[in-house]
Amino acid sequence: MLRERVTEDVYVFISELYVEVAATVVITEKGAVVIDTAPFPQETRQIREFALRHCPQGVRYVINTHHHADHIYGSYLFPEAELIAHRQCRQILLKVGEESLAKAKAQTPALAPVQLRIPQLVFETEMLLRLGEKTIHLMHAPGHTPDGIMVHIREDKVLVASDVVTPIPLIVRGDIEELTKSLKLIKTLNLENIIQGHGGVLLRGEIEETVDSNVAYLRNIEKRVRTLVEKGQSKTALRRISVESCGKSRIPLGGLAQRLHQANLEYLYNKMMAEKADQNPK
Ligand SMILES: [Zn+2]
Repeated sequence: MLRERVTEDVYVFISELYVEVAATVVITEKGAVVIDTAPFPQETRQIREFALRHCPQGVRYVINTHHHADHIYGSYLFPEAELIAHRQCRQILLKVGEESLAKAKAQTPALAPVQLRIPQLVFETEMLLRLGEKTIHLMHAPGHTPDGIMVHIREDKVLVASDVVTPIPLIVRGDIEELTKSLKLIKTLNLENIIQGHGGVLLRGEIEETVDSNVAYLRNIEKRVRTLVEKGQSKTALRRISVESCGKSRIPLGGLAQRLHQANLEYLYNKMMAEKADQNPK
């Protein structure tokens, strides 16, 4: 687990085991707030030890930014903390959480100790958390998933954007329009740093450019895939749409960007084909 100090009281932990997923610890004099966890217990335990070392009052809140396993499977290691998420996150986990966890455990033995935790404290549009001297503003930011949230630590000018901001936007099973809206919401905030869901921290000078290029990428892939669908081309034609031609690099996330890009294209293609079939019933 790599640790980086973002501000005086905000630390980010980047997983070395799973696609550079980020977990954030906010230290206050009334206890710590942990925003997302690492998927593997051995890494989340390091986060817990660190938080307890720096905060004798313990961990007061854990926030799940959305229901995806890589962000939330460490929540059970903070049993004393209240668990916060969007209302839909709670709903999704109640519905499919146990089943997905059982499948994940069958595939990945290191997840054996994980227990599902269901968020108790939920909100719809936004929520304000005051702890010590910190004002922590949670806001609904769907697009990557319907239950996505971002967490703004106001005094520190840090935004934990989770998967709203990643080196390549992730929209499989998501929604381009909503993700674009959530990205634009970021531009209304006064920020020094963004903690991405994967791939580390953005500095002030990188924020605007990254947000704009993510919005442009979403617009590009939508346009490229639509053209292909309208021409009635097959799915194999997607391979010719390179990540660079849509305005992004294939280098980040250990070279995974190219695969995530192809997954985005395929998801859009299937969605548009299904819509086309609905419009032209045989
Ligand atoms: Zn996710």
